Amino acid sequence: MDDLFHIRSIDMKNDSNCLRIFCIGRNYAEHVQELANAIPEKPVIFIKPATCLVKPGERIHFPKHGKELHHEVEIVVKIGSEGRVAREEEALSYVSGITVGLDLTLRDVQAEQKKKGLPWEIAKAFDQSAPIGDFVPYDKSVDLNNISFGCKVNGIERQKGNSRDMIFNIPRLLVEVSKVWILRPGDVIYTGTPSGVGPLKIGDSIEIESNLTGSFSWSIVQ
Ligand code: MG
Repeated sequence: MDDLFHIRSIDMKNDSNCLRIFCIGRNYAEHVQELANAIPEKPVIFIKPATCLVKPGERIHFPKHGKELHHEVEIVVKIGSEGRVAREEEALSYVSGITVGLDLTLRDVQAEQKKKGLPWEIAKAFDQSAPIGDFVPYDKSVDLNNISFGCKVNGIERQKGNSRDMIFNIPRLLVEVSKVWILRPGDVIYTGTPSGVGPLKIGDSIEIESNLTGSFSWSIVQ
C-alpha cells in the first residue's frame, strides 16, 4: 500500500513540463577531492528520468536498495528554447529559469558500481532522487557566475558553495551537453555539487537555498 501511494505521489507531483534531467558530476574541485576522484578534462554527464523530480514539501522515501543516502545540493537551470549551443557567448539565451535542487545519491551503491565499472543509474536515478525547488525566471541581470547556495540538515549547515567555483561554468556546460543532445524546452540541468556531501537518515529534514530563489525543504521518511 505504501509503495502504491509512493508511486501515485510521484506521478501527481511530477513537473509535467520537464522533459529530461541532465546532471553534471565532478564540477567543483573540493568535491572532486573529497570523493578521491580526478579533476575531469570534460564535464561528466549523466541523466535521470523526469519522473525522479520531487516538488518542495513532499516526503522523500528512503530508497530500499541502499544504505548511504547522500545529499548533493546543486544549482539547476531550465532550458527555454530548442537548439544546439555552438558557442558559450550564445548559451545564456537558452536559459529560461534557475533554481536549486538535490542530486540524491546512494553512495554505497555508487561505490560498488564504480568499482565494477557499471552504470550509475541505480545509485543516482532512482525514484525521488531529484528534489527540485521552484524556478525563478532567468534574465540577463542575473549573474550566473555568482550564485551562493547551500543546504542544511535538521537546521545544521552541511554544504555551502558559489557558482563561481565551478570547474566548467554554465555556458560551457550548455555547449558540452549540446554536443550530444539537441536542447529542448523543458530540459533541466543539475550543474554539480560543492564539497560537504553527507548522509541523510529517516526522520531528517533537509533545506536547500540560494540567494536567487529562497529556500525549499523536504523530509526523509521510511
Ligand atoms: Mg551531483
